[in-house]
Amino acid sequence: MNLTYDIAIVGAGIAGSALACSLATSVKDKPLRIALIEAQTICDTLPICDEGINDFDARVSALTVGSQQFFESIDLWSYIVGQRVSGFDKMTVWDAEGTGHIEFDAADVRASQLGHIVENRVTVGALHQRIKTLSGVDIFSQQAVAELHLANTASRSNLSSLSLADGRSLEAQLIIAADGANSPLRKMAGLPIREWSYQQSAIVCVVETSQGHEATAWQRFTEHGPLAFLPLSLSQSDKHFCSIVWSQTDIENDLAMAMDDHQFLQALGRAFEYRLGEITDVSKRRSFPLHQRHAIDYVKPNFALVADAAHAIHPLAGQGINLGLADVKALSEVIVAGHERGQMLGDIGLLKRYQRQRKADNLAMMAAVEGLKRLFQPLPLPFRWARNMGMNIFHDQSQLKNKVIKHAMGIDR
Ligand SMILES: Cc1cc2nc3c(=O)[nH]c(=O)nc-3n(C[C@H](O)[C@H](O)[C@H](O)COP(=O)(O)OP(=O)(O)OC[C@H]3O[C@@H](n4cnc5c(N)ncnc54)[C@H](O)[C@@H]3O)c2cc1C
Repeated sequence: MNLTYDIAIVGAGIAGSALACSLATSVKDKPLRIALIEAQTICDTLPICDEGINDFDARVSALTVGSQQFFESIDLWSYIVGQRVSGFDKMTVWDAEGTGHIEFDAADVRASQLGHIVENRVTVGALHQRIKTLSGVDIFSQQAVAELHLANTASRSNLSSLSLADGRSLEAQLIIAADGANSPLRKMAGLPIREWSYQQSAIVCVVETSQGHEATAWQRFTEHGPLAFLPLSLSQSDKHFCSIVWSQTDIENDLAMAMDDHQFLQALGRAFEYRLGEITDVSKRRSFPLHQRHAIDYVKPNFALVADAAHAIHPLAGQGINLGLADVKALSEVIVAGHERGQMLGDIGLLKRYQRQRKADNLAMMAAVEGLKRLFQPLPLPFRWARNMGMNIFHDQSQLKNKVIKHAMGIDR
Protein backbone atom coordinates (compact mmCIF):
# COMPACT_ATOMS: atom_id res chain seq x y z
CA MET A 1 0.00 0.00 0.00
CA ASN A 2 1.33 3.44 -0.99
CA LEU A 3 1.34 5.54 2.17
CA THR A 4 1.82 8.95 0.54
CA TYR A 5 -1.02 11.41 1.07
CA ASP A 6 -1.94 15.03 0.48
CA ILE A 7 -3.17 15.37 4.07
CA ALA A 8 -2.78 13.24 7.20
CA ILE A 9 -5.30 13.98 9.98
CA VAL A 10 -4.35 12.60 13.39
CA GLY A 11 -7.35 11.91 15.66
CA ALA A 12 -10.72 10.62 14.45
CA GLY A 13 -12.91 12.21 17.14
CA ILE A 14 -15.61 14.67 16.10
CA ALA A 15 -13.18 17.32 14.78
CA GLY A 16 -10.77 15.08 12.83
CA SER A 17 -13.57 13.00 11.30
CA ALA A 18 -15.59 16.12 10.38
CA LEU A 19 -12.51 17.59 8.69
CA ALA A 20 -11.91 14.42 6.63
CA CYS A 21 -15.58 14.40 5.69
CA SER A 22 -15.64 18.09 4.77
CA LEU A 23 -12.46 17.89 2.64
CA ALA A 24 -13.60 14.75 0.81
CA THR A 25 -17.03 16.28 0.17
CA SER A 26 -15.85 19.74 -0.93
CA VAL A 27 -13.10 18.94 -3.45
CA LYS A 28 -14.68 18.04 -6.78
CA ASP A 29 -12.08 18.01 -9.57
CA LYS A 30 -8.76 16.76 -8.22
CA PRO A 31 -9.73 14.58 -5.19
CA LEU A 32 -7.43 14.86 -2.19
CA ARG A 33 -5.77 11.74 -0.75
CA ILE A 34 -6.47 11.84 2.96
CA ALA A 35 -5.25 9.59 5.79
CA LEU A 36 -7.36 9.62 8.98
CA ILE A 37 -5.42 8.08 11.87
CA GLU A 38 -6.91 7.09 15.23
CA ALA A 39 -5.32 5.54 18.31
CA GLN A 40 -8.57 3.88 19.48
CA THR A 41 -10.76 1.38 17.65
CA ILE A 42 -12.92 3.15 15.08
CA CYS A 43 -16.50 1.94 15.19
CA ASP A 44 -19.08 3.03 12.61
CA THR A 45 -21.94 0.88 13.83
CA LEU A 46 -24.18 2.60 16.33
CA PRO A 47 -25.24 0.18 19.04
CA ILE A 48 -28.34 2.11 20.03
CA CYS A 49 -30.90 -0.19 21.52
CA ASP A 50 -33.24 2.08 23.50
CA GLU A 51 -33.11 -0.13 26.55
CA GLY A 52 -32.55 2.39 29.28
CA ILE A 53 -30.26 4.69 31.18
CA ASN A 54 -27.02 2.82 30.41
CA ASP A 55 -27.77 2.82 26.68
CA PHE A 56 -26.78 6.50 26.40
CA ASP A 57 -23.24 7.79 25.94
CA ALA A 58 -22.60 9.96 29.00
CA ARG A 59 -20.46 12.27 26.79
CA VAL A 60 -22.87 14.54 24.95
CA SER A 61 -22.50 17.90 23.18
CA ALA A 62 -24.98 20.71 22.80
CA LEU A 63 -24.61 21.28 19.04
CA THR A 64 -25.52 24.80 17.97
CA VAL A 65 -27.61 25.69 14.94
CA GLY A 66 -24.33 26.88 13.31
CA SER A 67 -22.82 23.38 13.76
CA GLN A 68 -26.03 21.79 12.47
CA GLN A 69 -25.83 23.97 9.32
CA PHE A 70 -22.21 22.93 8.78
CA PHE A 71 -23.19 19.25 9.14
CA GLU A 72 -26.04 19.78 6.66
CA SER A 73 -23.56 21.28 4.17
CA ILE A 74 -21.51 18.04 4.23
CA ASP A 75 -24.62 15.81 4.07
CA LEU A 76 -24.09 14.49 7.59
CA TRP A 77 -27.02 15.83 9.61
CA SER A 78 -29.47 13.22 8.29
CA TYR A 79 -27.15 10.44 9.54
CA ILE A 80 -27.24 11.98 13.03
CA VAL A 81 -30.99 12.58 13.06
CA GLY A 82 -31.47 8.99 11.86
CA GLN A 83 -29.91 7.87 15.15
CA ARG A 84 -30.85 9.93 18.20
CA VAL A 85 -30.94 13.68 18.89
CA SER A 86 -32.85 15.81 21.37
CA GLY A 87 -33.75 19.30 20.21
CA PHE A 88 -34.21 22.01 22.84
CA ASP A 89 -36.02 25.27 22.32
CA LYS A 90 -35.55 26.86 25.75
CA MET A 91 -32.72 27.44 28.16
CA THR A 92 -33.15 28.40 31.81
CA VAL A 93 -30.22 29.72 33.85
CA TRP A 94 -30.47 30.72 37.49
CA ASP A 95 -28.33 31.75 40.44
CA ALA A 96 -28.39 29.44 43.45
CA GLU A 97 -27.49 32.39 45.68
CA GLY A 98 -30.54 34.60 45.06
CA THR A 99 -33.39 35.35 42.70
CA GLY A 100 -31.42 36.03 39.49
CA HIS A 101 -32.63 34.08 36.48
CA ILE A 102 -32.51 34.29 32.67
CA GLU A 103 -34.65 32.44 30.16
CA PHE A 104 -33.81 32.04 26.50
CA ASP A 105 -36.46 31.00 23.99
CA ALA A 106 -35.88 30.04 20.34
CA ALA A 107 -39.14 31.77 19.42
CA ASP A 108 -37.59 35.13 20.45
CA VAL A 109 -35.19 34.85 17.49
CA ARG A 110 -37.78 33.21 15.21
CA ALA A 111 -36.03 29.82 15.35
CA SER A 112 -37.56 26.43 16.06
CA GLN A 113 -34.65 25.19 18.20
CA LEU A 114 -31.79 26.71 20.19
CA GLY A 115 -29.74 23.58 19.45
CA HIS A 116 -29.60 19.80 19.82
CA ILE A 117 -28.12 17.55 22.47
CA VAL A 118 -26.27 14.76 20.68
CA GLU A 119 -24.29 11.92 22.23
CA ASN A 120 -20.65 12.13 21.08
CA ARG A 121 -20.80 8.45 20.13
CA VAL A 122 -23.69 9.21 17.76
CA THR A 123 -21.86 12.11 16.06
CA VAL A 124 -18.63 10.14 15.62
CA GLY A 125 -20.49 7.01 14.42
CA ALA A 126 -22.48 9.06 11.89
CA LEU A 127 -19.28 10.71 10.62
CA HIS A 128 -17.65 7.34 10.05
CA GLN A 129 -20.71 5.99 8.26
CA ARG A 130 -20.66 9.06 6.00
CA ILE A 131 -16.89 8.76 5.37
CA LYS A 132 -17.42 5.17 4.18
CA THR A 133 -19.56 6.58 1.32
CA LEU A 134 -16.78 8.99 0.19
CA SER A 135 -13.69 8.22 -1.84
CA GLY A 136 -10.19 9.39 -1.04
CA VAL A 137 -10.10 8.77 2.75
CA ASP A 138 -8.00 5.87 4.12
CA ILE A 139 -8.68 5.06 7.77
CA PHE A 140 -5.98 3.81 10.12
CA SER A 141 -7.68 2.44 13.24
CA GLN A 142 -5.81 1.53 16.47
CA GLN A 143 -2.71 3.36 15.26
CA ALA A 144 -1.37 5.85 17.78
CA VAL A 145 1.10 8.18 16.06
CA ALA A 146 4.45 7.67 17.75
CA GLU A 147 6.70 10.11 15.88
CA LEU A 148 6.42 13.19 13.72
CA HIS A 149 9.01 14.61 11.30
CA LEU A 150 8.04 17.96 9.81
CA ALA A 151 9.70 19.22 6.64
CA ASN A 152 10.98 22.78 7.10
CA THR A 153 9.48 24.14 3.91
CA ALA A 154 6.46 23.24 1.79
CA SER A 155 7.77 21.23 -1.17
CA ARG A 156 6.50 18.24 -3.18
CA SER A 157 9.89 16.52 -3.01
CA ASN A 158 10.32 16.93 0.77
CA LEU A 159 7.20 15.65 2.56
CA SER A 160 6.54 15.43 6.30
CA SER A 161 6.18 12.00 7.86
CA LEU A 162 4.50 10.13 10.73
CA SER A 163 5.34 6.78 12.35
CA LEU A 164 2.40 4.58 13.29
CA ALA A 165 2.16 2.18 16.23
CA ASP A 166 2.67 -0.87 13.97
CA GLY A 167 5.98 0.57 12.68
CA ARG A 168 4.69 1.77 9.30
CA SER A 169 5.57 5.24 8.12
CA LEU A 170 3.28 7.60 6.26
CA GLU A 171 4.09 10.78 4.28
CA ALA A 172 1.96 13.85 3.62
CA GLN A 173 2.19 17.47 2.42
CA LEU A 174 0.16 18.67 5.41
CA ILE A 175 -0.29 17.10 8.85
CA ILE A 176 -3.28 18.18 10.95
CA ALA A 177 -3.50 17.46 14.68
CA ALA A 178 -7.10 16.80 15.78
CA ASP A 179 -5.87 14.70 18.67
CA GLY A 180 -7.67 16.41 21.54
CA ALA A 181 -6.84 18.71 24.43
CA ASN A 182 -3.68 16.85 25.47
CA SER A 183 -2.55 16.71 21.81
CA PRO A 184 0.61 14.57 21.62
CA LEU A 185 1.16 15.94 18.08
CA ARG A 186 1.14 19.56 19.31
CA LYS A 187 3.93 18.63 21.72
CA MET A 188 5.86 16.74 19.01
CA ALA A 189 5.57 19.80 16.74
CA GLY A 190 6.82 22.06 19.56
CA LEU A 191 3.88 24.48 19.49
CA PRO A 192 3.58 26.09 22.95
CA ILE A 193 0.27 26.73 24.76
CA ARG A 194 -1.04 28.95 27.54
CA GLU A 195 -2.75 26.75 30.12
CA TRP A 196 -4.31 26.98 33.54
CA SER A 197 -6.43 24.71 35.65
CA TYR A 198 -9.96 25.89 36.50
CA GLN A 199 -9.45 23.95 39.77
CA GLN A 200 -12.76 22.30 39.00
CA SER A 201 -13.72 18.91 37.62
CA ALA A 202 -16.94 17.90 35.91
CA ILE A 203 -19.00 14.78 36.56
CA VAL A 204 -20.92 13.57 33.53
CA CYS A 205 -23.62 10.90 33.61
CA VAL A 206 -27.24 10.27 32.63
CA VAL A 207 -30.06 10.56 35.17
CA GLU A 208 -33.74 9.72 35.19
CA THR A 209 -36.12 12.31 36.61
CA SER A 210 -39.74 11.96 37.67
CA GLN A 211 -40.82 14.97 35.57
CA GLY A 212 -40.19 15.66 31.85
CA HIS A 213 -37.37 18.03 30.81
CA GLU A 214 -39.69 20.28 28.74
CA ALA A 215 -37.16 20.33 25.83
CA THR A 216 -35.20 22.81 27.97
CA ALA A 217 -31.49 23.01 28.79
CA TRP A 218 -31.22 23.87 32.50
CA GLN A 219 -28.23 25.42 34.27
CA ARG A 220 -27.95 26.35 37.93
CA PHE A 221 -24.91 28.32 39.07
CA THR A 222 -23.92 27.13 42.56
CA GLU A 223 -21.12 28.42 44.77
CA HIS A 224 -19.00 25.36 43.80
CA GLY A 225 -19.64 25.66 40.03
CA PRO A 226 -22.38 25.27 37.38
CA LEU A 227 -24.73 22.26 37.19
CA ALA A 228 -26.37 21.57 33.80
CA PHE A 229 -29.26 19.23 33.00
CA LEU A 230 -29.43 18.60 29.22
CA PRO A 231 -32.53 16.96 27.71
CA LEU A 232 -32.31 13.45 26.22
CA SER A 233 -35.02 11.35 24.66
CA LEU A 234 -35.60 7.71 23.89
CA SER A 235 -37.88 7.03 20.96
CA GLN A 236 -39.79 4.16 22.53
CA SER A 237 -39.98 5.09 26.17
CA ASP A 238 -42.01 7.48 28.27
CA LYS A 239 -39.21 7.78 30.83
CA HIS A 240 -37.53 11.17 31.38
CA PHE A 241 -33.76 11.32 30.95
CA CYS A 242 -31.18 14.12 31.14
CA SER A 243 -27.45 14.16 30.67
CA ILE A 244 -25.81 16.13 33.46
CA VAL A 245 -22.56 18.10 33.60
CA TRP A 246 -21.82 18.93 37.24
CA SER A 247 -18.74 21.17 37.51
CA GLN A 248 -17.45 21.62 41.05
CA THR A 249 -14.27 22.40 42.93
CA ASP A 250 -11.97 19.39 42.95
CA ILE A 251 -12.71 18.69 46.63
CA GLU A 252 -16.50 18.64 46.10
CA ASN A 253 -16.03 16.58 42.93
CA ASP A 254 -14.01 13.91 44.76
CA LEU A 255 -16.67 13.72 47.51
CA ALA A 256 -19.47 13.31 44.94
CA MET A 257 -17.54 10.65 43.00
CA ALA A 258 -16.98 8.69 46.24
CA MET A 259 -20.73 8.58 47.07
CA ASP A 260 -22.82 5.51 46.37
CA ASP A 261 -25.66 5.96 43.85
CA HIS A 262 -28.30 6.60 46.52
CA GLN A 263 -26.22 9.33 48.22
CA PHE A 264 -25.35 10.83 44.83
CA LEU A 265 -29.00 11.04 43.75
CA GLN A 266 -29.89 12.79 47.02
CA ALA A 267 -27.02 15.30 46.70
CA LEU A 268 -27.78 15.96 43.02
CA GLY A 269 -31.51 16.48 43.70
CA ARG A 270 -30.69 19.08 46.39
CA ALA A 271 -28.13 20.82 44.15
CA PHE A 272 -30.71 21.04 41.35
CA GLU A 273 -33.51 22.18 43.69
CA TYR A 274 -35.65 19.26 42.44
CA ARG A 275 -36.60 21.35 39.38
CA LEU A 276 -37.56 18.17 37.50
CA GLY A 277 -38.91 16.35 40.56
CA GLU A 278 -37.13 13.42 42.19
CA ILE A 279 -34.01 12.02 40.51
CA THR A 280 -34.66 8.30 40.50
CA ASP A 281 -31.77 6.62 38.66
CA VAL A 282 -28.21 7.33 37.53
CA SER A 283 -25.84 5.73 35.00
CA LYS A 284 -22.12 5.15 35.53
CA ARG A 285 -20.42 8.45 36.48
CA ARG A 286 -17.26 9.83 34.81
CA SER A 287 -15.17 12.75 36.01
CA PHE A 288 -13.06 15.14 33.88
CA PRO A 289 -10.53 17.67 35.25
CA LEU A 290 -11.17 21.08 33.65
CA HIS A 291 -8.35 23.15 32.11
CA GLN A 292 -8.23 26.13 29.84
CA ARG A 293 -5.67 25.71 27.07
CA HIS A 294 -4.90 27.88 24.09
CA ALA A 295 -2.08 27.37 21.59
CA ILE A 296 -0.08 30.53 20.92
CA ASP A 297 0.14 29.56 17.23
CA TYR A 298 -2.22 27.11 15.51
CA VAL A 299 0.07 26.57 12.53
CA LYS A 300 3.66 26.14 11.36
CA PRO A 301 4.94 25.06 7.93
CA ASN A 302 3.21 21.80 6.90
CA PHE A 303 1.31 21.52 10.22
CA ALA A 304 -1.95 22.78 11.76
CA LEU A 305 -3.91 22.32 14.99
CA VAL A 306 -7.67 22.10 15.02
CA ALA A 307 -10.41 22.08 17.72
CA ASP A 308 -9.39 20.92 21.24
CA ALA A 309 -5.79 20.43 20.11
CA ALA A 310 -5.73 24.24 19.63
CA HIS A 311 -8.07 25.36 22.44
CA ALA A 312 -10.03 23.84 25.31
CA ILE A 313 -12.54 25.70 27.49
CA HIS A 314 -14.83 25.17 30.47
CA PRO A 315 -18.01 23.29 29.45
CA LEU A 316 -20.34 25.81 31.15
CA ALA A 317 -21.34 27.46 27.86
CA GLY A 318 -21.41 24.19 25.86
CA GLN A 319 -19.23 25.76 23.17
CA GLY A 320 -16.11 23.50 23.00
CA ILE A 321 -16.85 21.36 19.96
CA ASN A 322 -18.89 24.13 18.33
CA LEU A 323 -15.75 26.29 18.23
CA GLY A 324 -13.87 23.21 17.01
CA LEU A 325 -16.32 22.71 14.14
CA ALA A 326 -16.00 26.37 13.18
CA ASP A 327 -12.20 25.74 12.96
CA VAL A 328 -12.84 22.65 10.82
CA LYS A 329 -15.05 24.61 8.43
CA ALA A 330 -12.53 27.48 8.11
CA LEU A 331 -9.51 25.17 7.65
CA SER A 332 -11.37 23.04 5.12
CA GLU A 333 -12.31 26.13 3.06
CA VAL A 334 -8.74 27.48 3.12
CA ILE A 335 -7.27 24.10 2.05
CA VAL A 336 -9.82 23.55 -0.74
CA ALA A 337 -9.20 27.07 -2.12
CA GLY A 338 -5.39 26.52 -2.00
CA HIS A 339 -5.69 23.08 -3.62
CA GLU A 340 -7.81 24.49 -6.45
CA ARG A 341 -5.15 27.18 -7.06
CA GLY A 342 -2.46 24.46 -7.14
CA GLN A 343 -0.76 25.76 -3.96
CA MET A 344 1.29 23.49 -1.65
CA LEU A 345 -1.08 22.57 1.20
CA GLY A 346 1.60 23.04 3.88
CA ASP A 347 2.36 26.58 2.71
CA ILE A 348 2.56 28.77 5.81
CA GLY A 349 0.87 31.71 4.09
CA LEU A 350 -2.13 29.51 3.31
CA LEU A 351 -2.28 28.08 6.84
CA LYS A 352 -1.98 31.51 8.47
CA ARG A 353 -5.17 32.55 6.68
CA TYR A 354 -6.96 29.86 8.73
CA GLN A 355 -5.31 31.02 11.97
CA ARG A 356 -6.33 34.64 11.32
CA GLN A 357 -9.93 33.61 10.70
CA ARG A 358 -10.29 31.57 13.88
CA LYS A 359 -8.01 32.81 16.65
CA ALA A 360 -9.86 36.03 17.49
CA ASP A 361 -13.25 34.30 17.60
CA ASN A 362 -11.90 31.52 19.83
CA LEU A 363 -10.21 34.04 22.13
CA ALA A 364 -13.40 36.09 22.46
CA MET A 365 -15.44 33.02 23.45
CA MET A 366 -12.74 31.92 25.91
CA ALA A 367 -12.78 35.36 27.53
CA ALA A 368 -16.60 35.34 27.78
CA VAL A 369 -16.61 31.89 29.38
CA GLU A 370 -13.86 32.92 31.82
CA GLY A 371 -15.85 36.04 32.72
CA LEU A 372 -18.99 33.97 33.39
CA LYS A 373 -17.08 31.53 35.55
CA ARG A 374 -15.58 34.36 37.64
CA LEU A 375 -18.93 36.12 37.95
CA PHE A 376 -20.39 33.06 39.65
CA GLN A 377 -17.51 32.46 42.05
CA PRO A 378 -18.42 32.90 45.75
CA LEU A 379 -18.77 36.69 46.23
CA PRO A 380 -19.62 38.94 49.22
CA LEU A 381 -23.34 39.76 49.66
CA PRO A 382 -23.43 43.18 47.89
CA PHE A 383 -21.81 41.67 44.77
CA ARG A 384 -24.19 38.71 44.82
CA TRP A 385 -27.09 41.14 45.07
CA ALA A 386 -25.73 43.14 42.11
CA ARG A 387 -25.20 39.90 40.13
CA ASN A 388 -28.80 38.80 40.70
CA MET A 389 -30.12 42.22 39.78
CA GLY A 390 -27.92 42.23 36.65
CA MET A 391 -29.29 38.83 35.58
CA ASN A 392 -32.88 39.98 36.00
CA ILE A 393 -32.23 43.22 34.09
CA PHE A 394 -30.51 41.23 31.30
CA HIS A 395 -33.51 38.87 31.20
CA ASP A 396 -35.77 41.84 30.41
CA GLN A 397 -33.47 43.37 27.72
CA SER A 398 -34.85 41.55 24.70
CA GLN A 399 -32.57 43.15 22.06
CA LEU A 400 -29.36 42.43 23.95
CA LYS A 401 -30.58 38.97 24.94
CA ASN A 402 -31.42 38.10 21.32
CA LYS A 403 -27.92 39.18 20.22
CA VAL A 404 -26.39 36.88 22.85
CA ILE A 405 -28.68 33.97 21.84
CA LYS A 406 -27.75 34.35 18.16
CA HIS A 407 -24.04 34.37 19.00
CA ALA A 408 -24.38 31.29 21.24
CA MET A 409 -26.37 29.56 18.45
CA GLY A 410 -23.46 30.23 16.06
CA ILE A 411 -25.70 31.98 13.52
CA ASP A 412 -24.06 35.41 13.54
CA ARG A 413 -20.50 34.30 12.69
C1 LIG B 1 -17.46 17.48 30.71
C2 LIG B 1 -17.44 18.05 29.35
C3 LIG B 1 -18.62 18.48 28.75
C4 LIG B 1 -18.62 19.06 27.46
N1 LIG B 1 -19.79 19.51 26.90
C5 LIG B 1 -19.76 20.13 25.68
C6 LIG B 1 -20.96 20.65 25.06
O1 LIG B 1 -22.06 20.57 25.58
N2 LIG B 1 -20.84 21.29 23.85
C7 LIG B 1 -19.64 21.43 23.23
O2 LIG B 1 -19.58 22.03 22.15
N3 LIG B 1 -18.50 20.93 23.77
C8 LIG B 1 -18.53 20.30 24.97
N4 LIG B 1 -17.38 19.81 25.52
C9 LIG B 1 -16.14 19.89 24.75
C10 LIG B 1 -16.07 18.76 23.71
O3 LIG B 1 -16.28 17.51 24.34
C11 LIG B 1 -14.71 18.80 23.04
O4 LIG B 1 -14.53 20.10 22.49
C12 LIG B 1 -14.63 17.76 21.91
O5 LIG B 1 -14.83 16.45 22.37
C13 LIG B 1 -13.26 17.86 21.26
O6 LIG B 1 -13.25 17.05 20.10
P1 LIG B 1 -11.89 16.75 19.35
O7 LIG B 1 -12.27 15.90 18.18
O8 LIG B 1 -11.13 18.00 19.15
O9 LIG B 1 -11.01 15.91 20.40
P2 LIG B 1 -11.27 14.48 21.05
O10 LIG B 1 -12.71 14.17 21.18
O11 LIG B 1 -10.46 14.46 22.31
O12 LIG B 1 -10.66 13.46 19.98
C14 LIG B 1 -9.27 13.32 19.81
C15 LIG B 1 -9.00 11.95 19.19
O13 LIG B 1 -7.61 11.84 18.91
C16 LIG B 1 -7.17 10.54 19.25
N5 LIG B 1 -5.71 10.58 19.50
C17 LIG B 1 -5.08 11.18 20.55
N6 LIG B 1 -3.75 11.01 20.43
C18 LIG B 1 -3.54 10.29 19.28
C19 LIG B 1 -2.37 9.80 18.64
N7 LIG B 1 -1.12 9.98 19.13
N8 LIG B 1 -2.52 9.11 17.47
C20 LIG B 1 -3.76 8.92 16.94
N9 LIG B 1 -4.90 9.35 17.54
C21 LIG B 1 -4.79 10.03 18.70
C22 LIG B 1 -8.00 10.17 20.48
O14 LIG B 1 -8.08 8.78 20.67
C23 LIG B 1 -9.35 10.80 20.13
O15 LIG B 1 -10.20 9.89 19.46
C24 LIG B 1 -17.37 19.21 26.78
C25 LIG B 1 -16.17 18.78 27.38
C26 LIG B 1 -16.20 18.20 28.65
C27 LIG B 1 -14.90 17.75 29.29
